Amino acid sequence: MEKPVLAAAAKRKAVKQSAKPKGAGALAKKSKKGLSLLTPAEAYEIFARFAAAMPNPQTELEHLNPFTLLVAVVLSAQATDAGVNKATRALFAKADTPAKMAALGEEKIREAIKTVGLFNTKAKNVAALSKALAEQHGGEVPQDRAALEALPGVGRKSANVVLNVAFGKPTIAVDTHIFRVANRTGLAPGKTPLEVELGLERVTPPEFIDNAHHWLILHGRYVCKARKPECWRCLIADICKFEPKTPPPAEKRVKAAPAETEPGLS
Ligand code: SF4
Repeated sequence: MEKPVLAAAAKRKAVKQSAKPKGAGALAKKSKKGLSLLTPAEAYEIFARFAAAMPNPQTELEHLNPFTLLVAVVLSAQATDAGVNKATRALFAKADTPAKMAALGEEKIREAIKTVGLFNTKAKNVAALSKALAEQHGGEVPQDRAALEALPGVGRKSANVVLNVAFGKPTIAVDTHIFRVANRTGLAPGKTPLEVELGLERVTPPEFIDNAHHWLILHGRYVCKARKPECWRCLIADICKFEPKTPPPAEKRVKAAPAETEPGLS
């Protein structure tokens, strides 16, 4: 027979678990080994709708060539694309190749990007990666992940962005927006960015893989926002597994307002 203390603890645990919201974490747990909670047809439909709504999605990071894209991506860690663009316009006017950037030097790079978060470390990395590209890669940005990841300040996510945007490789760079959208929708639940990346690679139909990264980022940035997803205007709401869906603002105001009572009935 089960001991009363253990039975009570088990009951408390069960109540606690059932009270958990069905958010991203809950969906990630529901998914076995990072597998999608959607059918292949549903996953296809999501990308087909993104493709119809945004036929030619682009990165919002301004750049002139693969090198300036790489620099912009390195600067964009924990910074907004708009903030990075503001700093890089003047920087890229002075230096748009590894040789020119290396010649500009860490001090001047730091001065140009001082409005971007973590600018000290980033200036050091941009100077070092420019030198490495000029000296070891003939001034070219390498087109393979290992070589990119060997550069200072370049991780898997940055390498994936460059491979996809600059060289058209079928990679999906999982940033905070993509991580959230993949988990909330049930498209590719995962506890780590790598788990989500591999899950997305599995569920994304080949014809959509080139643009998947852009669609998911833009969707996360402008519709499936971190604090309040705008489910009422989401074009994949009927497929997405996230619950409860966010109602439109007007509906929320009506709900939040105190109930009116008929005169004389209060
Ligand atoms: S329905 Fe809501 S949670 Fe789901 S993808 Fe759309 S905005 Fe995000």
